[in-house]
Amino acid sequence: MSKAARRLVLGLIAVLGVLACAGGAPAPASPTPSTAASSEQTVTATLAAVGDVLPHHAIKEAARARSGQSNDTDMGFDALFSDVADQLKKYDLALFNMEGPITERAYTPAAPLVFWAPPGLAGALHRAGFSVAILANNHALDQGKQGLVETLAHLRQARLAVIGAGANFAEASRGLIIEKKGIRFGVVAFTTLLNAYSRQMRRQTGEPQVLFWHGWGDAGAEVLAAIKAMRARTDVDVVVVSAHWDAEDATRPSTYTRAIAQRVIDAGADVIIGHHPHVLQPVEYHTAADGRRALVIYSLGNFVSNMCPGFYPSSTCEERLGAIAELTFSRRGRERVRLARVAFLPTWTEHEPRCPGETRAAYRCIRPILLERRIQITQQRLATADRTGAREMNAVLRGDEMRRELIRQRLQLNDQ
Ligand SMILES: [Zn+2]
Repeated sequence: MSKAARRLVLGLIAVLGVLACAGGAPAPASPTPSTAASSEQTVTATLAAVGDVLPHHAIKEAARARSGQSNDTDMGFDALFSDVADQLKKYDLALFNMEGPITERAYTPAAPLVFWAPPGLAGALHRAGFSVAILANNHALDQGKQGLVETLAHLRQARLAVIGAGANFAEASRGLIIEKKGIRFGVVAFTTLLNAYSRQMRRQTGEPQVLFWHGWGDAGAEVLAAIKAMRARTDVDVVVVSAHWDAEDATRPSTYTRAIAQRVIDAGADVIIGHHPHVLQPVEYHTAADGRRALVIYSLGNFVSNMCPGFYPSSTCEERLGAIAELTFSRRGRERVRLARVAFLPTWTEHEPRCPGETRAAYRCIRPILLERRIQITQQRLATADRTGAREMNAVLRGDEMRRELIRQRLQLNDQ
């Protein structure tokens, strides 16, 4: 099939809300197939990933208001994931980028771009279906080293695995090895951006660290070493790398980011999951130096944020567009694990006066929703709506369909 024809087919599939690539997907190299698999059996495991979870002030305020008089904000944060939790729970592994420390309180002076969130958020993320928190991002040290240490403890207490940061350099670069349904994943996370960081801090490898592709000397050497170490393991089938990189609000990756992607793939990554730009960027296949084909999702956009706040029935507001990347891996018998399916579920962070089922409008409902599901529900309701209701529903429907189309365009799959 020609490239143009293939794109057309992919485009048609994407109209249904899922951008999928079946059949032409690459087969990540597997050094040694799991001994757990029998010679006939086919095993399948799903890995999902979303972009940034940004604990902006308005989100924390809404959670606090919802939790009433209690200091325990767990219930307040649960509303954040009320529309996506049933979907997230379907996956064997679900990763999110925790863009800010989880602490009991702020340790640094309040500033617009200095983040932190109370521990209730960690519990809510786990109850929503997430299993792995990515901490390699530019906000990891917003509350200093003490804040990072506390974040690790709160996330682990909430039964979330943590990657990309640790109590020392070895822990930050070690990554996670986890087996799901007989497929063994190795996950490493790094960032090319880090606020409140200094060379002095980097030298103290025995202290809390973030795996950092720093911009001086042999940039990236530590990151590439961590990925190579994961690739070399005989108990890992698939190497997944989380990359926090590129520029805010850029809808295409820079030449520098593309060069990093290639080096990361050459070092052993089968899949790269990117974030930080706050908007969606393209999806590409690259070929590694050893011939493997690897998938690069340059940016999944924001999953939860208060960026572009307000009620916009027909605005694009790209910082509120996102996607759940669904990666399905399979292996037949003792063959190599292959990436059998890639799909994206479009999300939209809605800002409504209240969440469904709530009677009080004392706090806002800021939460990601599954666009495809809302489109289907609106279409069904339109059938029985009166004239006024139909007008309002048509406006919502047009906005959602436009956003779905934009997400499809942004996540257009390109062959390199
Ligand atoms: Zn970031």
